[in-house]
Amino acid sequence: MKFRLSLFAIVVLVLAGCKKDPPAPPAPAVASFTINCAAVTVQGTYTGGLTLNNTNTITVPVNVTQVGTYSVSTATINGITFSGSGSFSTTGKQSITLQGTGIPVNNSTYFYLISAGAATCSFPVSIITAPSGNFDNDHMLFGNPSRAATIIDSTRNYLLRKQYYALSYNKDRGTPNWVSWHLFQNDLGSTSRQDDFRTDNTLPAGWYQVPANAFSGSGFDRGHNCPSGDRTSSVDANSSTFLMTNMIPQAPVMNQGIWANMEDSLRRLVNQGNEIYIIMGSYGTGGTGNNGPATTVNGGNVTVPSTVWKVALVLPNGNNDSSRVDNNTRLIAVNIANSNSSTGSWKNYRTSVDAIEAATGYDLLDRLAPVLQGVIEARVDNL
Ligand code: MN
Ligand code: MN
Repeated sequence: MKFRLSLFAIVVLVLAGCKKDPPAPPAPAVASFTINCAAVTVQGTYTGGLTLNNTNTITVPVNVTQVGTYSVSTATINGITFSGSGSFSTTGKQSITLQGTGIPVNNSTYFYLISAGAATCSFPVSIITAPSGNFDNDHMLFGNPSRAATIIDSTRNYLLRKQYYALSYNKDRGTPNWVSWHLFQNDLGSTSRQDDFRTDNTLPAGWYQVPANAFSGSGFDRGHNCPSGDRTSSVDANSSTFLMTNMIPQAPVMNQGIWANMEDSLRRLVNQGNEIYIIMGSYGTGGTGNNGPATTVNGGNVTVPSTVWKVALVLPNGNNDSSRVDNNTRLIAVNIANSNSSTGSWKNYRTSVDAIEAATGYDLLDRLAPVLQGVIEARVDNL
């Protein structure tokens, strides 16, 4: 009896072993479900300029009427997208999770639409301004000099937090008031200059968008604030610097001479093991370019600034940057007339941050302790 059973088992096993692979099961059906829009919940903190991580998810309650696979994704709005896929093995109420990816650009509230078959719903995600905690290497780590805001009424001081820099835009002048960016080794690569000057269509609807050719024939360069040379890690990074919201009409001799030399000097500091927080701004009306003095270009749409400034806070490479600034931190500031007669070494135009604050009414580095600002902002760099 025992022997017979074993023999039977062996025969079955051999037969099973010889059997051909079964035909592939049919592809699973696509699930059908409805979405409980009112109960969609958004998790995580959304901060302009900061990359989303695994805490940035959305829970979507669904009622499954037919099992099968699902793949749900929103459009990319304000730089971020939510998506998720998987399968339902049972019908009835359950939930799916969508993961957020990307970097929010502007600090405002945006609506995202989920669409799955007949099921659609839209839900709001609010992007907040930068938190007061540590957010190392953020373009605005040390502050918002003019308290710019992404509100449509803030026409002369409109905050645009982009992936590769942040800026305060002045609709009346057609230029940025200032542009702020972090520069470190990872920003410096081998990408060539893209030269794709273009309008910035992220400005609020109805605002004049300075066209790519706005300065042609004016005798002024399209002067980058955040330089092309500071963003060579990728085509996307370099291309971002050619938006017209990053440009001022800049005196060519000054732009290509003194200003380019200072940009090179700062990149050299990065190559020597430093990271730098840089803010460039401009103010006043009337500069002198290749065709002599001018107060505006582009038919009056763009103001020619009289003065251009730059502030650079230099730190040895490291983490927790805001806690590493002390009384000895190198802080370089220059203030230079927007004129073809501004020549020579940029070092001859050094001044204190206090002097730039007095001229502009801004509070630079306002997230540093006031006592610390008092020390380093009063000093004039002499290295
Ligand atoms: Mn750092
Ligand atoms: Mn200050």
